[in-house]
Amino acid sequence: MFLIVGTKFFAWGSEKTPDMIRCSNCGALAQFTEKSGMNFITLFFIVPVIPISGKKKMIECPNCRARFQMD
Ligand SMILES: [Zn+2]
Repeated sequence: MFLIVGTKFFAWGSEKTPDMIRCSNCGALAQFTEKSGMNFITLFFIVPVIPISGKKKMIECPNCRARFQMD
């Protein structure tokens, strides 16, 4: 059987930030969406198999969809 293995970043979550944040990409002032994400090794670019990074917290701009990592 031939397996195509790759890596893909998966993100999930739809919590809104309690505060308004100014997006440094598009300049919009909005409540951002809080997401968690991880890098996975995937099969056929679809099926996540093994996480290869720790969980990352990030926020996503609702206007331009730019993502910013939170520390
Ligand atoms: Zn933005």
